[in-house]
Amino acid sequence: ATPTALLVGTGRGSQLGILLRGPQVLEQTRRIDTIVLDKTGTVTTGTMAVAGVFAEEGLTEGELLRVAGAAEAGSEHPVARAIVAAATVSGLDVSGAEGFQSDAGVGVRAMVDGRAVLVGKADWMLRQWALALPETTRTAVAAAESEGRTAVVVAWDGEVRGSIAVSDTVKPSSADAVQRFIALGLTPVLLTGDNPGAARSVATAVGISEVRAGISPAGKLEAIRELQADGHVVAMVGDGVNDAAALAAADLGIAMGTGTDAAIAASDITVMSGDLIVVGDAVRLARSTLGTIK
Ligand code: ADP
Ligand code: MG
Repeated sequence: ATPTALLVGTGRGSQLGILLRGPQVLEQTRRIDTIVLDKTGTVTTGTMAVAGVFAEEGLTEGELLRVAGAAEAGSEHPVARAIVAAATVSGLDVSGAEGFQSDAGVGVRAMVDGRAVLVGKADWMLRQWALALPETTRTAVAAAESEGRTAVVVAWDGEVRGSIAVSDTVKPSSADAVQRFIALGLTPVLLTGDNPGAARSVATAVGISEVRAGISPAGKLEAIRELQADGHVVAMVGDGVNDAAALAAADLGIAMGTGTDAAIAASDITVMSGDLIVVGDAVRLARSTLGTIK
């Protein structure tokens, strides 16, 4: 490829709202055959909303939401934002947590009113504290997940106190974008740390048949490596801190400009608008730029 053609391609890219790390990125883009998509914040808006609160006996839903909101106040995760927003809208005070810590892809812990609080995935929590999941909370979580929601469990002082169900929305252009990827000969794969029910409902809505759910941030990196070991040239599209390792390992890392700095720093391409349709534009641009000069 001549330097002039590459620079023209790069310039066209910025007109389309695509930032390339360098002109050589066009060649990587041209070669991909598989496109791995993170779910939350990439295929979906990542603006989640609380859809239901379940509190164990002896506790009000408001109290559960207040304590969970306080524990989540320090997190930027979409689940955390939804919980804090719901608590705030209900007039609950979510300030005052201490010792906040977040574990990427699983949950958070903090001290609220002198109690050690955990909010996150059930299996992670059970491992942390060797807790038993009460049948009532287990049923609430299963019901939420079967409806395609994300459900997190809330525990403090060694006991599970209930769960919060959160719903997400598929971005308006995601289904069209997936159809374009397929038309371009790319195999789309949905990769998420979320539960299989939520993953499947999004996959069905956008027309993706290959789904990997319940995957940790390290597991996302492994999934990319496995696809590469099978001979695929892999693009990964993501927005979160939990995607950074996978974005860096992919043959082509694509960050949503609406996402975290960690994702953008790990990527070769940034799509400013966060619109997946533009990812298809980037592939077409790479093919046309390099096609004309071969
Ligand atoms: P995705 O791969 O879809 O972007 P993540 O890896 O960020 O999802 O998160 C996976 C799961 O971990 C979430 O669905 C949620 O159950 C749990 N989780 C992550 N962060 C938090 C948090 N701050 N609070 C509660 N749960 C969390
Ligand atoms: Mg994400």
